[in-house]
Amino acid sequence: MAITDHIENYPGFPAGINGFELSQKLEEQAKNFGTVFEFSEITKIEKSLENNCFVIRSQNKSFHSKTIIITTGTTPKKLNVPGEDKFWGKGVSTCATCDAALYKEKTVAIVGGGDSALDEGLFLTKFVKKLYIIHRRSELRAVKILQKRAMENPKIEFILETVVEEILGENKIQQLKLKNLRTSETSYLDVDGLFIYIGLQPNTDFIDIVNKDENGYIVTNENLETNVNGIFAAGDCRIKTLRQISTAIGDGALAAYNAERYLDHLNCNL
Ligand code: NAP
Repeated sequence: MAITDHIENYPGFPAGINGFELSQKLEEQAKNFGTVFEFSEITKIEKSLENNCFVIRSQNKSFHSKTIIITTGTTPKKLNVPGEDKFWGKGVSTCATCDAALYKEKTVAIVGGGDSALDEGLFLTKFVKKLYIIHRRSELRAVKILQKRAMENPKIEFILETVVEEILGENKIQQLKLKNLRTSETSYLDVDGLFIYIGLQPNTDFIDIVNKDENGYIVTNENLETNVNGIFAAGDCRIKTLRQISTAIGDGALAAYNAERYLDHLNCNL
């Protein structure tokens, strides 16, 4: 949310709202209700055998808690092709909002055919001269309204049934090596930058206390309880069908409500 330029599908803002501004408003509102924010990278969650509570560990600090709601979200996936690491942050990006201004009147490509690829692509067209959207299938995954807008945008050209095999250049990106999956033909595309939107992976690597699916998404029931009594999960990091701000907010409310009910019947002394 915080790195999305314009959010137009969150209720209550008919003209849309900037993602960073919305995140600040949510933070301010949470603080008004007494939420305390601590900034720490968590390395492990454990159940304490002593008092039936939880210990949340970071490199240099431990937090003790009666219940936990995990809301660690997701991170954009990488392509894993030659040249990606070399040009990461120097021409290869997963954040159009952060980097679009670097590509004024330049030629840029996006990989992906989902909502992120088209949403961020439409934003990029405010800056770039030309945008190629490279997608591995002949059909896009994005919702129809985004497909319509992208197809009507004169700066956007789709390259379908095609994958990026290599990112080439000396000191900066110069070309993409492409492979057409239908004909197996190889071609080269001159670009100044590449934005990758090929899906998300959950930020749950550090969590081994609760059940996850084969992709790392946390398994919950309809009350957002995990298999460990007292640990809940909400938002993009759990298995769900729609990852949007509105569904994350709904998850947060439900998890908080059920965590409170759990606390009512808890026998844990902190
Ligand atoms: P996504 O829906 O998983 O789409 C990923 C796209 O990348 C797909 O088109 C997929 O192709 C392609 N892809 C995956 N791996 C690839 C690879 N190795 N090489 C080339 N292409 C690859 O991911 P997303 O677009 O980031 O969206 C994630 C979630 O956020 C979704 O639930 C989406 O609805 C939500 N979202 C919502 C909004 C909004 O509400 N406006 C905006 C952004 C995101 P295939 O189609 O062939 O699988």
